[in-house]
Amino acid sequence: YPKYDRDYIQHEEIGSGFYGKVYRCEAKLEGTDCAIKKILLTKSEEVQRVFNEAKMLSLVRHPNVVGYYQAWIEDYRKPNNSKTRKSCSSSYGPRQKMMYIHMELCKGGSLASKLAKEKELRTDMAWSYSRQILEALQCIQRKNIIHRDLNPKNIFIDDSGTVKIGDFGLAMRKDEDVSSNKNLSPVGAALYRAPEMRKGVCITNKVDMFALGLILFELFCPRGRSEKVIQMLNGSESPCEICEEYKVDETAKPLILKLLRTDPLKRPSAADLLQDLDTLEVTRKNTQETEIQQR
Ligand code: ATP
Ligand code: MG
Ligand code: MG
Repeated sequence: YPKYDRDYIQHEEIGSGFYGKVYRCEAKLEGTDCAIKKILLTKSEEVQRVFNEAKMLSLVRHPNVVGYYQAWIEDYRKPNNSKTRKSCSSSYGPRQKMMYIHMELCKGGSLASKLAKEKELRTDMAWSYSRQILEALQCIQRKNIIHRDLNPKNIFIDDSGTVKIGDFGLAMRKDEDVSSNKNLSPVGAALYRAPEMRKGVCITNKVDMFALGLILFELFCPRGRSEKVIQMLNGSESPCEICEEYKVDETAKPLILKLLRTDPLKRPSAADLLQDLDTLEVTRKNTQETEIQQR
């Protein structure tokens, strides 16, 4: 009996992407809900490349990264729906290989769908989301991993509202592949690609920080949340003017501008930006206290 049918009950499809489909499943033994990503392997694909996603996920264990349980590959035969089938054996398609990734289920869907549903995101929510994404990125960067596909569709929310970075399909170790040209070709959602990716130079984890800059813009600027504006902002020589035009939150603006710097070396790391957030927090608390004392 194949493991998937033996150990899980498949429920509805909860998402699909370029590489695979994701289903809500019930783990029979534990009796709990989980998410399973199914990736059909094509002949040309090396198992190693597909396992990369599971490997990267397993390396970063963090409350703000989608939890990983296990991954495996098994034979898969697509059931034939043809009514003219003659025998039992012809009711299945050819034998193929399918990879399964058992993950934690994020019932709240993606940040993209959340932003599409909510016209205005409360500022305190935007700060909370930013901090959570940064905590995850700090952990990812400590492990020398570059996500390379950070965008609102790959950030999920669980049922208690916790934000989790997912889809490590394009993630890579910084210390690996320096000799290969793997990190030279532009990858990930085109809208969120850092300028250096277009130049075909060796990229660093600062590409994730650039993508974060655009995500923060969306979090703190309800008016500017459109593909057209993001496209304009990405590659703009004067992001400051765009932030002004679309009335980005004044406190968040300097952080966004730092992240969108063209020179990756001038962009802050996740740890740097978390320090900025802490400083802002202290300033905010002090202002509140003085206000109370003055009353
Ligand atoms: P892409 O085309 O972005 O590379 P992909 O094929 O690599 O996509 P994912 O981004 O991992 O697939 O997942 C596709 C969609 O499935 C997500 O956008 C999300 O809506 C949903 N999804 C994925 N993982 C989970 C999860 N753990 N919990 C809930 N939903 C999930
Ligand atoms: Mg995805
Ligand atoms: Mg992917």
